[in-house]
Amino acid sequence: MSGARRLGIVVPYRDRQQHLDALLPLLADFFASPELRGALTVKLLVVEQATGLPFNRGMIKNIGYNLLAPEVDYICFHDVDLVPLDADYSWPSQPAMACFHGLDFKPDFVRQLFGGVVLLQKLHFEAANGYSNAYWNWGFEDVDLRERLLRCGLPPQHREGTYRKLPHNDEGSHPDGKPTEAHQQNQRKYTSQWFRKTETGWARKPNLVGAWRAEGLNSAQFDQLTPRCPIGPQGANAEHVIVALRHAPEAAG
Ligand code: UDP
Ligand code: MN
Repeated sequence: MSGARRLGIVVPYRDRQQHLDALLPLLADFFASPELRGALTVKLLVVEQATGLPFNRGMIKNIGYNLLAPEVDYICFHDVDLVPLDADYSWPSQPAMACFHGLDFKPDFVRQLFGGVVLLQKLHFEAANGYSNAYWNWGFEDVDLRERLLRCGLPPQHREGTYRKLPHNDEGSHPDGKPTEAHQQNQRKYTSQWFRKTETGWARKPNLVGAWRAEGLNSAQFDQLTPRCPIGPQGANAEHVIVALRHAPEAAG
């Protein structure tokens, strides 16, 4: 491919104003740093979910992809609360998780994840049919995408990026440390979809033709409530948009 490949960054967002105010200038500085100058052409889109329904990070990221993909060559999904200190956002030959150090997780655990800051070719994301839209509130849409990618023969890689976490309460747990109901429900959904219990433990279902092929990027329905408007410092090349989801969580499940 001739010329620099254009990177699109989607930040799923709702009600984290302090994080957003901190991240945008820091990211702009990061991409303008002397080591990186000119190497990456970056366009960022903050996709805010309108009030009403519970937060659905997977669907918001699918929507962000649909809005941004026509203008870029590859895509990054970026939590609003992770600030890169030393990280590699270059073209991913395989799907890649960019954050590693600074997450406060053990390395072996991080290697089972595919969240925080991830990079994919458009081909990768479309092969997986994007994120599931079925995970509401906290958790598991990211590892669900990892399973989709594995079923497509696209195992994620891990780049050893160092990040700073901006502090917040754990949305997946109650103050006493117990997982929230949504956390548990999403965990059950994820586990039953992708794994089966055997005598020796859990085994991956092959699940090559599962419901995920019809549920994801190709089925995220939304209304765009605001035009895309510039946001953040000049030179950040960032825009903001508010979208409303047309789906609601199933009553049970
Ligand atoms: N997020 C958001 N508002 C919310 C929940 C999540 O903007 O109410 C976005 C935000 O980009 C955040 C990401 O989803 O960084 C991941 O959520 P969270 O930080 O709660 O997950 P955790 O840190 O537990 O992985
Ligand atoms: Mn977080």
